[in-house]
Amino acid sequence: MRKNVKKNIVGMLPEDLVPWLGREGEPSYRARQILRWVYEKRVSSFQDMSDIPLGLREKLSASFVLGTTRIAEVRTSSDGTKKFLLVFPQGDSVEVVAIPQRSWYTVCLSTQVGCPVRCPFCATGRAGFRRSLTADEIVEEAWRVSQSERERITHLVFMGMGEPLLNYEELARALRVFQSREGFGIGSRRITVSTVGVPEKMLQLARDWPEVNLALSLHAPSDDLRNFLVPLNRTYPLKEVLAALREYLHLTRRRVTIEYTLWQDFNDGKVHALQLSRLLRGLLVHVNLIPGNRIKGTPFVPSPPERAVAFAALLQKHGIPVTLRRSRGRDIQAACGELYRIHGLRGEVADDYCPEKRCNATGN
Ligand code: SF4
Repeated sequence: MRKNVKKNIVGMLPEDLVPWLGREGEPSYRARQILRWVYEKRVSSFQDMSDIPLGLREKLSASFVLGTTRIAEVRTSSDGTKKFLLVFPQGDSVEVVAIPQRSWYTVCLSTQVGCPVRCPFCATGRAGFRRSLTADEIVEEAWRVSQSERERITHLVFMGMGEPLLNYEELARALRVFQSREGFGIGSRRITVSTVGVPEKMLQLARDWPEVNLALSLHAPSDDLRNFLVPLNRTYPLKEVLAALREYLHLTRRRVTIEYTLWQDFNDGKVHALQLSRLLRGLLVHVNLIPGNRIKGTPFVPSPPERAVAFAALLQKHGIPVTLRRSRGRDIQAACGELYRIHGLRGEVADDYCPEKRCNATGN
């Protein structure tokens, strides 16, 4: 006999719950009431939904679960950043990073278990690719952290494990829940999707979600170097990615952030800064320069401060707006994929390492 599999209520919106309520002979207005307990109060049991009739609470318990993940590990940085390793029922796991600021609470989400792009400086890339997350699983990342920390999330960034635009349909479904007033109620302008550049999906994002922020991770100013640092460049070379960027800017008229991780002697020279400024001249962009996070066993060394400052100064001199970021959470392996990788190396969670060790080690 087929076991009755309970659905996860986390990830649902009223329109998903109303048909079930109808079949149970319950009024449709209960959907909003129930979901307020899920997303606003973030209760951990249906029994805690005190203004829902007892009978309906029991029916809910019989048909749904309230979250499916468990937090396997939490690391807290001296700067307040917290990194969570979230384990799904099947045993695979993702990282979620919470970044508390004075009046903001930002959470960085993953969209895939591992990443098929395999950038050689990225711990996630090194761990290989297992699967894409469903929309419910993406929503649950934010829900679980918000519940555990008793914090209301104000901002979301999709800069964790995986390439969000290679999982576009599930990302879009999750965005509906995050943005909906019956869900998390986070305004689109407080959500940032980061990509290494999937041209047709950048344009779809511009059409479907014109107010969501886009961050484009270039990491290299020429195809030769980018083919190595961001292997998806072999499929979508810079010319195509930059054409999509221009079209994106035309469609949304919103500034795009260019992410550029600085690695000593790989992409942080004067010549790279000049090439990058030529590529970006005249575009409505802002460059974030991020000194990389060192991943053990790789040749990638974060640019020393003087090289990073010189790189930023050269971009500025050529009229490109730039911010030199500091890397948060260094003491807790906060670069994308590091905690996941460490668990994998212990054989506790991940076991699908790139056997050829072609990939070494940060997130989009
Ligand atoms: S940097 Fe981003 S795109 Fe590259 S392997 Fe890591 S998670 Fe994937």
